[in-house]
Amino acid sequence: MNSLNTFFIRTYGCQMNELDSEIMASQLEQRGLVESENENDADLIIFNTCSIRDLAERKLFGKLGIISRKKKKKIIGIAGCTVMAKKEKILDKFENVNFIIGTNNLTDLNNVLDEIEEKNIRLSKTDTKYEKKLETYFAKRKNNIKASVSITRGCNNFCTYCVVPYTRGREYSRSFETIIDECNYLKDQGIKEIMLLGQNVDSYGTDNHKMNKYFHDLLYEIDKINGIERIRFMTSHPKDITTDLMYAIKDCKKVCNFVHFPLQAGSNRILKKMNRGYTLEEYLEKVNKLREIIPNVSIGTDIIVGFPTETDDEFMQTYKAFEQIDFDLAFIFEYSPRKNTAAYKLYKDDISIEVKDQRMKKLMNFYNCNIKDKLKKFIGTTQEVLVENLNKDKNFLKGRNKRYEKVIFKGNKSLIGTIQNVNIKETKHQTLIGEISFS
Ligand code: SF4
Repeated sequence: MNSLNTFFIRTYGCQMNELDSEIMASQLEQRGLVESENENDADLIIFNTCSIRDLAERKLFGKLGIISRKKKKKIIGIAGCTVMAKKEKILDKFENVNFIIGTNNLTDLNNVLDEIEEKNIRLSKTDTKYEKKLETYFAKRKNNIKASVSITRGCNNFCTYCVVPYTRGREYSRSFETIIDECNYLKDQGIKEIMLLGQNVDSYGTDNHKMNKYFHDLLYEIDKINGIERIRFMTSHPKDITTDLMYAIKDCKKVCNFVHFPLQAGSNRILKKMNRGYTLEEYLEKVNKLREIIPNVSIGTDIIVGFPTETDDEFMQTYKAFEQIDFDLAFIFEYSPRKNTAAYKLYKDDISIEVKDQRMKKLMNFYNCNIKDKLKKFIGTTQEVLVENLNKDKNFLKGRNKRYEKVIFKGNKSLIGTIQNVNIKETKHQTLIGEISFS
């Protein structure tokens, strides 16, 4: 067995996975390993996988196939949601995979490595229950401007198309005090923006009413931390968002006025089949309330097209709702059946790929045109931008306003990590382009 000096983690999927990769990287660094720039140089490679979409899984399996044909002996580990759903398949099919580590065993990583190195065995650790050690583990973060903090893990909602309740287990809210401690720890590291993460942040605390603290309480408390400039959160569930939360977003100066609020479908019959727990009318009522309470709020969404039995009429209900709500950000997906889910077991995937493609294209066309027009309205305004980094072309700095629109402008890289007022002059694709305001 190789002795390990370097590691590389490839992360697929959501921000929770990004955070989990940081937790694993932190432990490997404590073990004395150094992170490699690319996977070819690393002694240890971990693939932190996602199983939300079929495509991500197929990419992973393709990658494992390629690596197994390479000569250099490496230690390969697989982490993330896919291993919770398909660990047997991975171990059987890919002999070069040395270990599998589940979403509830992240802090076990070094023990797993010790065991496989000592005993020269293949190992799989995939507990279904939340790992308590994660509660108080504060990972070292890669980015020194922005950091994610998990406030809940797992999910109790069982939307019929979604694997998360099976791969990440039941919802668990971290303690209020630990979250505040972690935000303070990050502030001490110089972090300016905190992203509070959960599959459903709005239900924070509802799994443990004894705590008597809910998501809006967290926002008010983190807002008081000097040094933290911005607070974001992801994802809100339309059935669980409360009026108290909307007022917290309005009242807390550092909380950004962006709410990711997945609609998924505009037909009540499909919403019911998805087990989303709201009707279109209830969703619209909450959108109106968000817009009434929070000035200039930006609303994002996820949409799934081609859910089993979705008719043309029902798709058009989604399209009309999408048009009417006039989202500021949208992620549109074609339905793909995921093993273990209720939709996989109960419904035939009966909408053809062609129809799914057409529906997706129709929504995307509307979205792309609409977003361009919407962004043009920012020309002539001044946006408060947290400068995150150099833009790809290096001539510009990039950052985001509080609504989450991307802004680029010319400036010295010493401005990274500061908040700048930027006068918007033009737009390109989904980006605002401006100049620093000196007034
Ligand atoms: S709310 Fe629904 S879609 Fe979101 S993670 Fe939970 S089950 Fe999945």
